[in-house]
Amino acid sequence: MQKKWILFLAAACLLGATVAKPKQPKRIVFLIGDGMGLTQISGAMAHYTGRNAFERFPVIGLSKTASSDNWVTDSGAGATVFSIGKKTFNGAIGVDSLGKESPNLFELIKPLGWRTGVVATSSVTHATPASFYAHVPSRKSEDAIADFLSRGTCDVAIGGGIKFFKNRADKRDLFAELQTKGFTCIANTELQTVAAPKLIYVCDSNGMKTMQQGRGDFLAKATRLAQSNLLLDNKKKNYFLMVEGSQIDWGGHDNLFEYMKAELIDFNEVINQVLDEAIRDGNTLVVVTADHETGGLSLIENKENKSTFKVHYSTGGHSGVMVPVFAYGPGAELFSGIYENTEIFHKFCKLMGLKK
Ligand code: MG
Ligand code: ZN
Repeated sequence: MQKKWILFLAAACLLGATVAKPKQPKRIVFLIGDGMGLTQISGAMAHYTGRNAFERFPVIGLSKTASSDNWVTDSGAGATVFSIGKKTFNGAIGVDSLGKESPNLFELIKPLGWRTGVVATSSVTHATPASFYAHVPSRKSEDAIADFLSRGTCDVAIGGGIKFFKNRADKRDLFAELQTKGFTCIANTELQTVAAPKLIYVCDSNGMKTMQQGRGDFLAKATRLAQSNLLLDNKKKNYFLMVEGSQIDWGGHDNLFEYMKAELIDFNEVINQVLDEAIRDGNTLVVVTADHETGGLSLIENKENKSTFKVHYSTGGHSGVMVPVFAYGPGAELFSGIYENTEIFHKFCKLMGLKK
């Protein structure tokens, strides 16, 4: 009899533990370091004397990055999985493995009153940001991707990509069209403060300059601008913002460690800024991860100077290792453990009260 009671109580405790609801965040900032594996973080931060943002997170997990058709994902499939919750084929943007348009996070949360935005150091139509608002079978169709912004599911987009709006193959002036839909559209190499609840702000013809070319604090400023504009005309003050350190990946493809390092350190400072704000705010969930690792980077022994390392790249493409996930704020505990990249979408859904 006693044994039965103990078993019953144990079962009740377990049940209690599984039904305990996580705290729901009012705002989510999701930062993607494209191509940012553990070796990129280890290498770039090794001798950094500023604040290491990654060390400030209480919750850390690991995400398995394979796509539906390749152990080694590309950035289209790698970001689409975050926005639709399904693995898809390399090159896909917002479509499932059969090429079918699949509802994305922004479309699902808009009816609940959440506002949405993307910020990147690539064009705003590049694979990672595009995956959050567009549905096309090929990431290369950036003119077609820009068109999807007129659907209005993404309120704020800041990055590069002037040519996909103003210098298109079809000669349309997308800015004129988007303005009729209530967007404030700006093409200007300087990022200036502007108050507009629906804003497309593009600062370079295609991708933005590199840090080594003097991009400065563009990403930090763009992130702050997006966050303040997402609160305009926003009764519930709920928003989901995706911020991408796009060029960590590009430095990896070129096997240029110093390029990658400068981009990652810039991203680190953006994470610090977002974390500071989230700590002040108390209702913001901050999640940082990568779509995949780029370059097959390893840090190997430096026989001439053993206090540092040499870098070794094994590919000009991506690799298939797990990538870290860092989380802070209400609901952060959901992100610990080892899981498929699809789970990141499902964790967000759960935290935003979305029924699947
Ligand atoms: Mg990207
Ligand atoms: Zn890449």
